[in-house]
This record gives sequence, C-alpha cells and structure tokens, in this order.
Amino acid sequence: MSCALFIVTHSYYSSLQTNTLNCFSGAEAGNDDCGDIDYKDEPTSMQPLVVTFQRGDSLNRLLCENRVSEKDADRIIKAIKQKFGNLTFQVGQELVLEFTGTINDISLSKLSFNHLTDAEIVITAQENKQYLVEKKPFLLQKDVRFLSNKLDSSFSASAKENGVPNKIIRTAALNLGNVVNVRNKNSHDDHFKFLYEVYCDKNGKVVKSGNILYLSIQVKNKEHCLYGFAKDGKNTEYYNHKGECTSIRSSLVRPLDGRIPITSPFSLTGRWHPIAGYKRAHKGVDYGARTGTPVLAAGDGVIIQAGYSGGYGNTITIMHNSGYKTVYAHLSKIKVKRGQYVKQRQYIGNVGSTGLSTGAHLHYEVLINNRHVNPLSVTRMPNFALKGSDLNKFKQNITKINMDVKKKDIPTVYISEGKL
Ligand SMILES: [Zn+2]
Repeated sequence: MSCALFIVTHSYYSSLQTNTLNCFSGAEAGNDDCGDIDYKDEPTSMQPLVVTFQRGDSLNRLLCENRVSEKDADRIIKAIKQKFGNLTFQVGQELVLEFTGTINDISLSKLSFNHLTDAEIVITAQENKQYLVEKKPFLLQKDVRFLSNKLDSSFSASAKENGVPNKIIRTAALNLGNVVNVRNKNSHDDHFKFLYEVYCDKNGKVVKSGNILYLSIQVKNKEHCLYGFAKDGKNTEYYNHKGECTSIRSSLVRPLDGRIPITSPFSLTGRWHPIAGYKRAHKGVDYGARTGTPVLAAGDGVIIQAGYSGGYGNTITIMHNSGYKTVYAHLSKIKVKRGQYVKQRQYIGNVGSTGLSTGAHLHYEVLINNRHVNPLSVTRMPNFALKGSDLNKFKQNITKINMDVKKKDIPTVYISEGKL
C-alpha cells in the first residue's frame, strides 16, 4: 500500500499509533488489523509525520511524544538555540518529522518547519549524533497583479475587497494622500487602475507584498498617477508622471509630539554656551522635552549616522531628498541603525542628556547641502525630481508601464461587478 502524508496533532497521536504503522512502506500487508504482522527489525522507509503545535505545547514535548528520545530532543533543541536563539512556535505551526531505522529502533533523521513566511528551517541528523540546523529561504514567485475598478467606495476599501495586501494600500495612501480616500458617488467615470507586485509561495499563496508599479486614480475628470521607480535599482520610491517625488516626502514635521517648548532658538551669530563658557553659534533648536520622550523622524530618509558623537552625545543623522539632512542630538536611546530607511514620524530614539548637555532636551538641526538653516523656517523641502539619465530611465519605464496597462485594461469591465 502507499500511504499519504500522515497528519496528526499530538493530542490524539497516541490513539492513532496503530494507523501510523501503516505509514511504513515495509507494511505491505497493512490493513486495520496490524497485530498479526511482525515488523520487528524489518528495514523501513517511512512517510513523513506531520504534527501540529497545540496550545501549551513545547518543542520538547512534541518531539518526545512522537518517537524522538529525550536525549535527541535535547540535542535538537540545543542545536536550534545555538543557531537562532529562542524560537517561538505559534499554535497551528506544523512540524514535519522524518525517521529512519526499524520499527523497534527508530530515529529521527530530519525535522523541518516553516519560519515566518519566507523560509524553512531544516534540522538533519549527522553521524556523530549531532544535528545540522539550516535555514532555507523559499523560492518566492513574483507576481504582477492588475486591478481596474470603479471608485464607488473608497479606493482603500475597494482595493482591500479585491485582495490587495494592506501594506501596499498603506503605501498608496502615504503617497497619494487624500486622493485615495475619496468617495464620489455622483460620477460614474471615477475609477482606478492598479498594477502592483506580490510574492507567492509554491502553493500560489501571497506571502509578501512587493512594490506598486503604477496607480492611477481618476476623480472628477482629474487623473492622479503614481509610479514606483528604483533609480539605484534597489530601493523603490514613488513619483508622479513628471518624475517628481510624491508629496508626502517633501515636508519635514516636528520631531516630537505634543506641546514641547523651545528652550533655545537657532542662532548663527552666537549665544553664550552654558558648558563651553564662550559665545558660539547654536546651529539648531532645543526642545525642552523630558528624558525618554520619543523622537520621530522629521521626514522619510536613510540613516547616515547613528551613535555617540562627541559633545552631541548619542546622535542620529537622517539624509532626506534634495540635499536635506536632519540631526537629533543628546539622545538617551538610539533605535535605528546606519543604512536603515525610515519613514516620516517613525520612532527613532529617545530624548536624553548625553554629551555636552546641562539637562534633558532634544537638539535638532536641519542642513541643506551641508549648511545649517533654522529648523523652524523649513517646513517643506522642494519636490525632489529626477534628472538627467535617471529621468530618461524613468520615462522609458512609464512608457512601458502605460503600454502594459493599456493591454491589460478593458475599460468597461470592472472586477467588482463580476462581469469577467
Ligand atoms: Zn542645542
């Protein structure tokens, strides 16, 4: 007989052990009455056993309840810990156990389970009674999806109904602002076209969202377009049809929430420095916030410095578009790393009093092309626009996307109406 992948959960595994024997291919005469067959020492090749984490389970318990000796379970758990630290298992998580040996001398040859959505962890028994732990990323299939729909509910609601992942909807909302939440029941012409990427596992299930390639929302005869483009080939940013970075990235916001007073203003002509003991320029503003107050990124950007920096103490510097930089000094805690991309208003650290500081405050600077400016005078950065060869590449890209969309889009057919 051949036996399909055998799935049990630990709680009723013991009552199914007789059936489990049918999973040995050596049990050719296998039927419900296994008692007559002497499996002793018969070489076996077994079907994998799938067990599922239930509430209150531990890896140790699951292994021991499924034919793994306590010693081996110990070795396996130690090997996993050495490689990944403490892994947590959710209720419903499946483990696949593979065995070798004979029925009376059975040992685990391989244990595998999915890790998050994008990898499998495989533990293989070695000859020296040790276990090799490996993480094997899934090969994900990139899938470009197209959605053309009437805007009779809001864009967000309609996209969600049609299976667009939340992360992609959020990105659209961040970049097209209020346009995406428009509701207009008066115009039958209002609609949107959406081209976006998702990543699927081998079963076709969406496990990761990708970038937006194109989004066009037509409201009251006005078209709002968004194009995803990675000018460095890696990090996708969003632009309008002219190649201007979309508006959310073009403003800087206050780096602290709430009513926090300015205790020392910006001054290039100088002020008496309380610690240095002489007059010197104050190249930023000081916000008199308490130690621990969360500090927020003033705009989208990349962290170009994060660490202790002399009199500035713990400091973070963010590079934004168009030669703009912001600096956050005297922090008690830093929550970001160099090279990391941050979003506007993302929590990046906490107010403190490190470096040359007389008390807790945030020293905040804005630089344009490496020159300090008064942070209070800068609320908007100019729209960052692509230039030269980047702009040419972008234009070629949007011509191709527009052609793709034209091919895919049949204007009168709307998915939500089920006319396909
Ligand atoms: Zn200061």
